[in-house]
Amino acid sequence: MLHWIDTHAHLQDEAFASDYDAVIARAQAVGVKKIVLPACNEKDQHRVLELCAEYSTTCYAALGLHPGEVGEDFEQQLAEIQRTLEKQGAIAIGEIGLDAFHYQDSLDKQLLVFEQQLEWAKYYNLPVLIHARNTIDLVLAKLETREFRSVTGVLHAFEGTLEQLARTMKNDNLMVGIGGLATFKNGLKEDVLRALDLSRTVMETDSPYLAPTPHRGKRNEPAYIPVTGTRLAEVRALPLDAVAQSTTTAALQLFRGVIA
Ligand SMILES: [Zn+2]
Repeated sequence: MLHWIDTHAHLQDEAFASDYDAVIARAQAVGVKKIVLPACNEKDQHRVLELCAEYSTTCYAALGLHPGEVGEDFEQQLAEIQRTLEKQGAIAIGEIGLDAFHYQDSLDKQLLVFEQQLEWAKYYNLPVLIHARNTIDLVLAKLETREFRSVTGVLHAFEGTLEQLARTMKNDNLMVGIGGLATFKNGLKEDVLRALDLSRTVMETDSPYLAPTPHRGKRNEPAYIPVTGTRLAEVRALPLDAVAQSTTTAALQLFRGVIA
């Protein structure tokens, strides 16, 4: 059976409150053996950790403050997340990043919060899961600085152009995360899909968001990973198992074998 890893699924979302047993069983049934759950703020991290304890051989926690969750009291939010990180551990810092699409007004604060969490990544030696919405160049510039060049991570839900993909790949510590956007007519461009270095591409759903076509608009779940994988296989004229193998190897590398 094919072996996949969903590197980004918010199973802590209330969309899954009533049936996460079934959701995880369906994922397992199609070969999605491991699922990474990125927290978004100081509150939902507790649910993330609960689920990861309950499904300890399947689910793995990432902790961080999402750019859309940055509040007036962000210093307190960060302190709370860092306390949890020290106490419980995590396999990555995430979801972190910059969003100039939905949250343009808080971009200054987002930058401070992003930098602080990049410092954590260095200090705790963990990869980062990055949300870069209309901010890819800004995020890449930050990761190209001497201060943060050593940080490893993934640009999740990659939405960039061919040029931005090339710039991302120039930083050998970075990978891209591919999900439902790759299946949308108006989503990720085919030339970008064709140019992906599959040894530095990881699969993700971003559940419950961004369900791939033909499930678009419905709740997304980890079991849909092979739908996006199939799209990638078609565009690249590769067998599905080659896509599964490359992207799973990349994910294991991203998380340094912690989720093997
Ligand atoms: Zn996300």
